[in-house]
Amino acid sequence: MSDTAVYGKVALIGLGLIASSMFWATRRAGLADHVAGYARSEETRETARRIGLCHEVCDSAEEVVADADLVVLAVPVGAMGAVAQAIGPHLKPGATVTDVGSVKRRVIDDVGPHLPEGVHFVPGHPLAGTEHSGPESGFATLFENRWCLLVPEAGTDPMAVARLRRYWEGMGALVEEMEPDHHDLVLAVTSHTPHLIAYTMVGVADDLRRVTDSEVIKYSAAGFRDFTRIAASDPTMWRDVFLTNKDATLEILGRFTEELFALQRAIRTGNGDALFDYFTRTRAIRRGII
Ligand code: NAD
Repeated sequence: MSDTAVYGKVALIGLGLIASSMFWATRRAGLADHVAGYARSEETRETARRIGLCHEVCDSAEEVVADADLVVLAVPVGAMGAVAQAIGPHLKPGATVTDVGSVKRRVIDDVGPHLPEGVHFVPGHPLAGTEHSGPESGFATLFENRWCLLVPEAGTDPMAVARLRRYWEGMGALVEEMEPDHHDLVLAVTSHTPHLIAYTMVGVADDLRRVTDSEVIKYSAAGFRDFTRIAASDPTMWRDVFLTNKDATLEILGRFTEELFALQRAIRTGNGDALFDYFTRTRAIRRGII
């Protein structure tokens, strides 16, 4: 292996935003000697070959994992189990399998049973993304100074975890470990429910289009523009996130609607103090973040 390489061969399955960014980041820092990629659609594989994404693009999942030291599952969460089933028998003993899925408990339950003894499974989730998807959307700096959460189960080989940590750090990420159910609850608050709210707000604006004509678009201010950007995210990915992180999302949505009703009541009853106090509290949270 070259001096900078953390792995000899890395296999990327699913060549979308995250996998393509991983390839460019890996290549830039020389973190692997060889990166092979596979995506289900012929069109994606052709695009990948055309733009030089991966050192090699394979035509099957079995082929891409052959001799790989690290296998990265970068497909929508709902597809992880089927991919794991397909590659399970072809994994090299001692290899590490990881994923980048936005939900962790479900991925662990779906993928784990398909991996043979002697293969290390270290689930992960980079907290980095954009509203773009597909093989042409990736870029080398996507993970720079962004968190990547690793959720190894107790008993996972610490060497395999440490090596994956080094790989993510090499791509510029800040790595922490977290327990899967806690991960899913935290992400329901910080990412999943906000996406649902953005989808809803843009849907409401679209419903009102007949009344407002195209003014919603023409005069869209920063707040609404941010909602439209978030609501442009990949529908397959986000469908799978809500279907697979159902309990945590419903818990947070329940709390959200309670708060929304309280604000609705304060507006209806003209309770300015309640509104002011609420906004003062949330402003302090923002100031604590930046
Ligand atoms: P994407 O839509 O850009 O790419 C997904 C890729 O997977 C596509 O190339 C598609 O062809 C391929 N694919 C789908 N089903 C497949 C299958 N069965 N076998 C092989 N390939 C298949 O998606 P993305 O944004 O790169 O997301 C990938 C994963 O990363 C998802 O699990 C998502 O939850 C997670 N993630 C996304 C973001 C984000 O903001 N986009 C952030 C962090 C994690």
